[in-house]
Amino acid sequence: MRPAGHFGSGGANGAGATPGGCPYCMSGKRAVWNPDKERPMAKISAGAIGLVVALALTGPVAAQGTPAQPDKRVEPRKTDKTVEALRKAYWTAVRSGDFYNKAARKADDEGVAGVASLMRAAAKVEAVHAANLAKALEEMEATKGKADEKAAPAVKATKENLATATELATAARETDLPAARKIAEGEGVREAARVFRDAREGEIELVRQFKDASELMDLWKKSKKDFFVGRTCGYLVEKLDLTKCPVCGKGRDDFEKVN
Ligand SMILES: [Zn+2]
Repeated sequence: MRPAGHFGSGGANGAGATPGGCPYCMSGKRAVWNPDKERPMAKISAGAIGLVVALALTGPVAAQGTPAQPDKRVEPRKTDKTVEALRKAYWTAVRSGDFYNKAARKADDEGVAGVASLMRAAAKVEAVHAANLAKALEEMEATKGKADEKAAPAVKATKENLATATELATAARETDLPAARKIAEGEGVREAARVFRDAREGEIELVRQFKDASELMDLWKKSKKDFFVGRTCGYLVEKLDLTKCPVCGKGRDDFEKVN
């Protein structure tokens, strides 16, 4: 236990301490004070000396040279689960975006131009999500970690790709992102919780579009389709008939046309 008010210079991971003790109240210095040599202090009761020494030893200096004192600052960070959820969501967005890009090329090859447009728009949505997730990790001074071993979904014919795309977006919407948001809220990381919430809104619209395209694929063959993707949060709309983004509140200028 550290005395109240002694935060040392520990970073976000709780490591590190001010060498020589707290620079403000000098409590760390007391750790090396030997009461037996301090004649004027000899009258202080043994109990009081014990208390002072005990308090001093629990201060920042204790970890530097007192093996008897367990260093509790190596405890896991209270935001570790949020970092893990951000990394998982980041790599999922990267993997999904990669799949959508490949599926777009496949749809072009098959002459399903409207679906190719949708897949490109979906890839843009995932790129925005990935960027926001990466930014949230950066703000928490955490790295992106490594891509997990999970293989990217295989690209097949457009009809099957639409089914896979629906599955990807549905999993993100129904399971992954709501669970991640709960973790971030539970650990009090509001910014990460907001990123998860906004990303989920984007996935809701993607699911709707993928389903439409699956059911009406013949109609989507004729020509490219215009979509508009919010650069800030990744929200996707078919028509830019809004004055501001319903998710992040940015104006219509924030939307980028993808077709
Ligand atoms: Zn937005």
